Amino acid sequence: MTVLSSTAGGAASGLGELPGGWRAALMGRDRDQRRAIKRLGLAVPTYLVAHALQALAVQAGLMGPHEFLLLAGYSGAGLLVFYAALRSGWSLRRKDPSLTFAQVLFGISAVVLAYGLAPNTRSAALLLLCLALVFDMQRLEPRQIAAAAFGALAMLAGTLAAMYAGWWSDGADLRAETLNIGMAAVLLPILSAVGAQVRRVRLRQVAQKAELARTLEQLHELSTRDGLTGLWNRRRALDLLDEELLRIRRTGRGLCVALLDLDWFKHINDRHGHAVGDAVLREVAQIGRETLRATDALARWGGEEFLLLMPETGTEQAMVALSRLRSRIQAHDWAQHAAELQVSFSAGLTDWRPGDAAAALLERADHALYQAKGAGRDRAYTA
Ligand code: GH3
Ligand code: MG
Ligand code: MG
Repeated sequence: MTVLSSTAGGAASGLGELPGGWRAALMGRDRDQRRAIKRLGLAVPTYLVAHALQALAVQAGLMGPHEFLLLAGYSGAGLLVFYAALRSGWSLRRKDPSLTFAQVLFGISAVVLAYGLAPNTRSAALLLLCLALVFDMQRLEPRQIAAAAFGALAMLAGTLAAMYAGWWSDGADLRAETLNIGMAAVLLPILSAVGAQVRRVRLRQVAQKAELARTLEQLHELSTRDGLTGLWNRRRALDLLDEELLRIRRTGRGLCVALLDLDWFKHINDRHGHAVGDAVLREVAQIGRETLRATDALARWGGEEFLLLMPETGTEQAMVALSRLRSRIQAHDWAQHAAELQVSFSAGLTDWRPGDAAAALLERADHALYQAKGAGRDRAYTA
């Protein structure tokens, strides 16, 4: 009696803990290939247990040693063939690269072989047949389960027919065997129907899980991003600032914070309309994304104000970054929205000083911004 299942048995194959080089040599580098070989490895303990039981049956005189050798040789050779097909990469080009269905059919054939060869273990073989199907149900498509069940019945019926025809006789009561196989003929279709049901439930679960993950991702996006500009929102900006301050405490590396405020924005809205105002906000944000370093964080602080965090940056460097941003904004084609539309910003900049909390930094930056506005706008002031 032999049962094939790649998912069978909690006995984890030791392949997972092999050192890198050995692992690559045995299982290959392709992820799908490795997974398929690991699955095949998981079936090995099941085969070993089945053959150990057969060996006991030989000891007890329930099975002949030749039959035992034939059965063990059959499954050993089959496993080697599957391993070669998976490891060589041949299976990767097939429709079912993990060869799951073929493995199930092979497992069933091994059970049927045991059924035919070892009369005393026949009822156990029929039980294992059900097991072989149940184990792999989740990985097979409903029509594959049905085909496997039908294939199993056909093989059993063929074996029985051969016994009736007198190809060989092992003293079995053929009427009792017919009853057993008739029972299997009732059981296997029911089993495959249940299998299809289980699979549907599982697929639905998987889909729901993916949907949930997507929704969570969207929620996260919504809760951290500003809807109009796509920049970080104020809440996220405050979190980022807190994270930066924690990091500074550990590493001592600096931080510059700038508050940017578009000049005469109310006027832009009044003169050209709210839609143009929105477009200006979006485009300023886009220019900021393109101009600033990837390690800088630009957030929409509110209305037409932006907060810029520049980690590991001194005030001089930060001033350079701000003037680069200024010239990009100046050079931008604003006339596409309205002929005489001009956009500029004022900024208040401060660097982190020992003992600074977030509030102190923001207050200094705000104060410097106020001064920049007072001094005529379109400029940056440091605190
Ligand atoms: P200043 O140079 O002193 O900053 O002048 P200002 O007009 O930019 O300053 P103020 O704070 O008075 O005006 C900001 C305006 O920004 C007022 C508000 O209607 C407008 N605003 C705020 N949020 C949005 C938005 O999402 N879209 C648009 N189009 N306008 C907005
Ligand atoms: Mg403002
Ligand atoms: Mg303004």
